[in-house]
Amino acid sequence: MAPVDVETEKSITLPPPHFVLVPLMGQGHTTPMADLACLIVGRGARVSLVTTPVNAARLRGLAAMARSALLPLEIVELPFPPADDGLPRGSNDNSDNVLQLFLSLYRLAGPLEAYVRSLPWRPSCIISDSCNPWTVGVARSVGIPRLTFTGPSCFYSLCDFNVAKHGLLHNGGVVPGMPVQVELSKDTWAAAFLTCMPAWGKFVEEVREGIRMADGAVVNTFLGLEEQFVACYEAALGKPVWALGPFFLNSRDEEARAVDQSAVIAWLDMMDQSTVVYVCFGSLAQMLPKQLYEVGYGLEDSGKPFLWVVKESEIVLPEAQEWLQALEARTAGQGLIVRGWAPQLAILSHRAVGGFMTHCGWNSLLESVAHGVPVITWPHFGDQFLNEWLAVHVLGVGVPVMPFGNDKAMVRGHIARAVSELMGGGAVAEERRIKCKEYKERAHGAIAKGGSSHENLTLLLHSFMWSGSKE
Ligand code: UDP
Repeated sequence: MAPVDVETEKSITLPPPHFVLVPLMGQGHTTPMADLACLIVGRGARVSLVTTPVNAARLRGLAAMARSALLPLEIVELPFPPADDGLPRGSNDNSDNVLQLFLSLYRLAGPLEAYVRSLPWRPSCIISDSCNPWTVGVARSVGIPRLTFTGPSCFYSLCDFNVAKHGLLHNGGVVPGMPVQVELSKDTWAAAFLTCMPAWGKFVEEVREGIRMADGAVVNTFLGLEEQFVACYEAALGKPVWALGPFFLNSRDEEARAVDQSAVIAWLDMMDQSTVVYVCFGSLAQMLPKQLYEVGYGLEDSGKPFLWVVKESEIVLPEAQEWLQALEARTAGQGLIVRGWAPQLAILSHRAVGGFMTHCGWNSLLESVAHGVPVITWPHFGDQFLNEWLAVHVLGVGVPVMPFGNDKAMVRGHIARAVSELMGGGAVAEERRIKCKEYKERAHGAIAKGGSSHENLTLLLHSFMWSGSKE
């Protein structure tokens, strides 16, 4: 295997480091981890990306790409033993019971340890999703370092750390220890830090402990976006925090634009520059029919062109389907409705898209900012509430659908107002767009050679230079 590509130090002769990546099984977590794997092998280090048999099917494209490019990336299928906890084999992406899924993955500890021990060398490091706290025991048992991959924004991770540290788990109000003002209502606080779900308490505590005990954290962000929060989080943890993102810009973004020939892109090609608002709420959030109708009427009332992704599961009722068809007929020429899944990266990088109404999942928000697209924010759960705060109050790139702290039912008027505010003219809207373009440039600068994320990865690879020995 080639020595690690440190670019500045061609004389290095040590073998490259070997990272074992342990993603959380689920779209929003596995995709950035797969991007991280590509980033690492692209720099000459070796990666084993572990997964379950069901999820391995989703990574076949990645495995084929790695094989054809002769990259040292191996997809390792760990056996996922059936349990007596009611979760049948193969149902490991059951989003109806997310906690059950997270807990079921604890059963991967044995197979992961057996895999690591079966290797003829000792890997340099495990990088584990923070929602897999069971890897703490594996890393300790086999005697290798462990970094956590914290999927949300660094801003959220820092808020969560501070709230836990101060024992403020049921408050509303000001989040302590932050370098900027962050203030949440009691309900939003409970939803953001998951205290509204008592069954999650023990698991959340294990996740926090897993982060505190790790040798550092890898975050999918860049210093030009979250520098002060990365610095504060590093100080809080007392461990290195490696900002290496946006991961997807490294390869997948270009690929998405190059290969996408879909009808969605053909429709966007017909629209004027920066006129379309793209509407999508990620892979998990589900709209109730009455919320769906409010979104639809709000988009129609805004009078602006829109591209809206509706999940199949949101329109199972015949009346919801009929309603959607009627909306389509009324808004033909103004809007396009996609049922199921849309090529988000290709859409966000299209010149016609000028705004994104999002649930503020971190991947979506990062993808939007890195493409210079300002956002309309409608968080649903967990870190999304803090990501909204970051977008609106800290970065200045977002318009909330509802005023902060207002948890009343959604109404079409708020949606139409937010769309007009984001997509309209005026100095404030223009400033938002300018800020977003600046973040886009910084994002590309961060991953380019010499940029902060590129340099951080060089340092990370150096820190885990692998001896190849089992001793
Ligand atoms: N995504 C997509 N097409 C869709 C919906 C989602 O490509 O129709 C992708 C999106 O680009 C992002 C991920 O799915 O990378 C969603 O992750 P995020 O963290 O935003 O939200 P989650 O799904 O975890 O709630």
